[in-house]
Amino acid sequence: GYREALRQAAAFLREGDDFLVVSHLSPDGDAISSTGAIGFILRALGKTYTLINEDRTPDKYAGLLGGQPIIDYGRSAPSRRFERVIAVDCADFARIGAVHTLFAESRLLLNIDHHPTNDGFGTHNVVKPSAAATVEIIYELAETLGIEWTKPLATCIYAGLLTDTGGFRYSNTTPDVMAVAERMLRHGAEGAVLAEQLLETMTYAQMLLLKEALSTLSFSEDRKIGWLSVTRETLDAVGAADEDTEGLVNLPRNVAGVEVGLLFKEKAPGHVKVSLRSAGRVDVSSLAKTLGGGGHVRAAGCTINGTLDEAVRRVVEAVKERL
Ligand code: 5GP
Ligand code: MN
Ligand code: MN
Repeated sequence: GYREALRQAAAFLREGDDFLVVSHLSPDGDAISSTGAIGFILRALGKTYTLINEDRTPDKYAGLLGGQPIIDYGRSAPSRRFERVIAVDCADFARIGAVHTLFAESRLLLNIDHHPTNDGFGTHNVVKPSAAATVEIIYELAETLGIEWTKPLATCIYAGLLTDTGGFRYSNTTPDVMAVAERMLRHGAEGAVLAEQLLETMTYAQMLLLKEALSTLSFSEDRKIGWLSVTRETLDAVGAADEDTEGLVNLPRNVAGVEVGLLFKEKAPGHVKVSLRSAGRVDVSSLAKTLGGGGHVRAAGCTINGTLDEAVRRVVEAVKERL
């Protein structure tokens, strides 16, 4: 069961050393917070560790790491392999990206995650789909290990909860989430500052992108599906970073009567990243899975190979079939 998995994960951390910690491609608030939190826990245990990701850490999350750098795999990958790996917030092995080339063949891999589509890719798996965020599981791991709470660790746990619950508003905001958040506030997490930094503040490029994206707003005839799309050209023209599209998908979904909101983002010619958000009737996690992606019941994603128009047609059709 879950408790036993947690105990085994605690033993994995206590007994090993020289850990490699990785989260997912295009890391979000929970991914970075989980990476930072594992770093602080390993540091408290007196372990050595390397934090790494294929994609860079969005600027607004950098402060959560308290000076522990997450190595940019593309720029300065270590030239050796690791025997002890911890993957956080990754629904499947592919979400780790190219960082897996740093895993030794005989590596032990601890998979800590909350996605219902997680396939248990680790040698050790602590997967709890009822957790609102991976940091909620890491909170329980820290308690199991008896780690002393510090402000930086509490800040990471709080930030992951804050971002994966959309500011304690989504349906995953359980009493347990609020209880953990309460404890983290008592241990020094600054709730208002984090909400301002992580949820409210937009970069200039992000605002310009919003302006462009809104001009693409489209709906199905019955107005139950709404979507936005952004071309590579627009992203480059406004100087948008990868994370600047975050939150855009909520806009069509927030329109009264819309069941599924979609964002189509042309990552590169022929590669379209799709974000899916459901008002509740459609399980977008299983829908995304049929398109090669995954995620949660109300928030999921996938990548479509094709033009922007092809991706729109294909995904909108697939959503229509489920309505
Ligand atoms: P987003 O739309 O914000 O990128 O992702 C929404 C949710 O779906 C997140 O929980 C994310 O982890 C998951 N997700 C997004 N893209 C993919 C994908 O390509 N594969 C899988 N398995 N999950 C994804
Ligand atoms: Mn995530
Ligand atoms: Mn998460």
